[in-house]
Amino acid sequence: MNFDLTEEQRAIADLAYEFAQKKVKPLRFEYDEKEEYPVQVLEEMRKVDLFGLWLPEAYGGVGGGVATLCAAIEQLARVDAAITMPVATSALGAMPILLYATDEQRSRWMPDIASGRKLAAFAITEPEAGSDATAQKTTAKADGDHYVIDGAKHYCSSGGISDLYVVFASTNPAKGARGITAFVVDKDTPGFTLGKKEKKLGIKANPTYELHFEGCRVPAANRLGGEGFGLFVLQETFDYSRPGVAAQAVGIAQGAIDETVPYLRARKQFGQSVASFQAISHRLAELAAKVEAARALTYRVARGMDSTLLPAVAAAVANKTQVRQELKKLQTARWTKESAMAKLFASDTAFETAQECINLCGGIGFMRDFPVEKFMRDAKVTQIYEGTNHIQKNEIAAHLIKEYAG
Ligand SMILES: Cc1cc2nc3c(=O)[nH]c(=O)nc-3n(C[C@H](O)[C@H](O)[C@H](O)COP(=O)(O)OP(=O)(O)OC[C@H]3O[C@@H](n4cnc5c(N)ncnc54)[C@H](O)[C@@H]3O)c2cc1C
Repeated sequence: MNFDLTEEQRAIADLAYEFAQKKVKPLRFEYDEKEEYPVQVLEEMRKVDLFGLWLPEAYGGVGGGVATLCAAIEQLARVDAAITMPVATSALGAMPILLYATDEQRSRWMPDIASGRKLAAFAITEPEAGSDATAQKTTAKADGDHYVIDGAKHYCSSGGISDLYVVFASTNPAKGARGITAFVVDKDTPGFTLGKKEKKLGIKANPTYELHFEGCRVPAANRLGGEGFGLFVLQETFDYSRPGVAAQAVGIAQGAIDETVPYLRARKQFGQSVASFQAISHRLAELAAKVEAARALTYRVARGMDSTLLPAVAAAVANKTQVRQELKKLQTARWTKESAMAKLFASDTAFETAQECINLCGGIGFMRDFPVEKFMRDAKVTQIYEGTNHIQKNEIAAHLIKEYAG
C-alpha cells in the first residue's frame, strides 16, 4: 500500500507492475545470464507509454512529473531493475534537456523521447573523472556552427540501445569546472562510436558501455545551456534524477521481500514454518519498516519537487522559455540535500534488505535460480551511480553544516 500517491499515480504504478510481471519476469533470468538486452521489450514499453509518463503533455507525455516517474520505476524494479532500466536512464538523459533546453530544442527532442522512439542517455563519467566530475578530459572545440568533440566516456548505462546522449565536455580546459559544457549527441553522428561493453556484478542485462568521440562534429544548436554551464546542468539534473534511483532501490528491496516471505512461510524446519521463528520474523519486520521509510522519503521529495517543477514546465511551454529560468522565478532553494538523502537511504536499505533476504532464506538464497541473490547484485549499483553514497553524504553534510552557519 502506498499512501503517498495520487489515484492516477497508483493506477500507473499498477500498470507498471503488471507490465513487468507479464513482459519482463519471464525474461529476467535468461538475460541476466546472457548479459544481453532483450531489445524486443523496448517496443512493449513504448506501447504502454512508459517513457513519457513524467514528461510534459505538450510533447506527447502524460505530464506526471517526478513522483509519477518514481511510481513506475519502483514497480518495474520490483520485478527486474536491469531490463526495465531504459525507463530510468532515458529519464536521466531527458532531465537535463527538460531543464536546460530552449523551446526550439524541446520541440526537436522531447516528442521522440516521450514516445520512446528515441531513448536518451547520460554521459559524464570518464576514466579519470568519476566522483570528481570536474576533471573532464573530453574536449569540445567550437568550429563555425559546430563543436568538435574528442575524448571518451565510460560506464554509460543503456549504451548502444540509446539514441541521444547528453555528453559533457570541456569547452575551456583553462577554466576547469567552469569550462564544462553539455551537448546532445545523436548516436549516428560521425566520430561517435561505442567502445568496450562492461561485464558487471549486477543489472547485467542492461548494457554499460564506453563511448568514444573522435573529431565528432556536433551542431552548436545541440548545446544545452551556455558554454561553461555544464556543472550546473549536471548538478541540477542529479537533484531531480536521484529520487528515480531511490525509487529503483525501493523497488528492488520490495522485490526481495516479495520473493522471501512466501518462501519463509512455506519452508518448514523443526516441524514448523521458518517464518514463525522470531529471529526471522523480527528481522523481516525491521527490513519492512526500513523499506517503508525509504519509500516515504522518496515520494515526499519527489512530490515536493513536482510542486515547483510542474508549474515551471507549464510556464516554460507557455512562455517558450527554459524550464530552469521558470524554476528560478518560483523557487528559493534547490533539492540537493533531500534528493541525496532519499538516494542514500533507499539504496543502503535496498542492499541491506536484499542481502539479509539471502540470510533469511538460507542456502536457496545463494542459488541463481532463486531471484533473491539477483536483487542483491542489482541493489549494489544504486549505492554507486549518480554519485556514490560517500558523495551523497558529502552533499548532505555540506548543506546541513551551512544551514547552521551564523
Ligand atoms: C553499472 C554502472 C552504471 C553507470 N552508469 C552511468 C551512466 O549512465 N552515466 C554516467 O555518466 N556514469 C555512470 N556510472 C558511473 C558512476 O556514476 C560512477 O562510477 C560513480 O560516480 C563513481 O565514480 P568512480 O567509479 O570513478 O569512483 P571514484 O570516484 O574513483 O571513487 C572511488 C572511491 O572513492 C570514494 N570517493 C571519491 N571521492 C570522494 C570524496 N570526495 N569523499 C569521500 N569519498 C570519495 C568513492 O565514494 C568510492 O568509494 C555508472 C557506474 C556503474 C557502476
